[in-house]
Amino acid sequence: MNTGQRPAPQTVGVLALQGDFREHCEMLGRMGHHAYEIRRPDQLRDLDALIIPGGESTTIARLIEGNGFLEPLRDFCASGRPTWGTCAGAILMAKHVDNLDRPGIETMDIRVRRNAFGRQVNSFEADLDIKGVEGAPFHAVFIRAPLIEETLPPAGAIATLEDGTIVAARQDNLLATSFHPEITGDSRLHAYFLTIGRGPGKKTLRVENGDGLPRELDPFLDGNGRLAQWPVKQSLQRAFIEHLAGAFEPGRSYTEPEVNDLLAAHHTFRDPALLRRLLYDWGYLERQSDGRAYWRPGSDTASKSGVPPGELQR
Ligand code: GLN
Repeated sequence: MNTGQRPAPQTVGVLALQGDFREHCEMLGRMGHHAYEIRRPDQLRDLDALIIPGGESTTIARLIEGNGFLEPLRDFCASGRPTWGTCAGAILMAKHVDNLDRPGIETMDIRVRRNAFGRQVNSFEADLDIKGVEGAPFHAVFIRAPLIEETLPPAGAIATLEDGTIVAARQDNLLATSFHPEITGDSRLHAYFLTIGRGPGKKTLRVENGDGLPRELDPFLDGNGRLAQWPVKQSLQRAFIEHLAGAFEPGRSYTEPEVNDLLAAHHTFRDPALLRRLLYDWGYLERQSDGRAYWRPGSDTASKSGVPPGELQR
């Protein structure tokens, strides 16, 4: 649904080691976001989202390795912030690639074949229906593009050519597209990309009671704003889980019964186990490995490693 409102500006990095990072930055700038060319790993820290652009994947892989980017990029992807590989970037995001002479970021469960469309079709264009992108088909430009041979759960295809060839895939906060979305002037995929994050990096996490919930959730709420029915639509499930996360005080450790009490105050269909699991799986809550303590990750680094925040941090 297009509300006509401009989304809050985000700070988005584009890896600028090689390839067409400038076009992505220009697109993001036109959308009102703050775009930065990223050349050093320490620049990743304050970003809301990151794009790995198209170019030459072996060259970018070499520069990633040579500039100490490999682990920082893997950590960035694991942090839950939206990360998108376009064309060569998609090759670098894949855990399985047919021929790349050194490791890429290897973060998405997809199998990618480089230069898969053959010399005779070095470049072509196609109109795509992309899951998550509303309105007219998205006009996509493919340039010596890779194809996504297979997506393995939790990755899933979000766009295919007419013959079924997968050309876009998503895995939680990660996105990979075979084509170049930055050169056609259509910003819908960039806009979609900026909505797919999870976890503490995402500003919408701190939603206060009721107000921040999308209107679409209204039919599922009772008179007291509690969720009375679990929605089937993933985006609504996510909105609700994100809303729940906002009810937890950052840096405070909760026992399982305390978590259940808090969840009981927000829903009526009596499935705290489902909500607890999704809060954890989607990165909104951390938990001790024996499940005895839960907490919302904050800036405190200990809370990332399975150790609940101590009393002093309350
Ligand atoms: N053919 C390039 C590679 O394999 C990708 C092309 C592109 O990013 N436009 O690295």
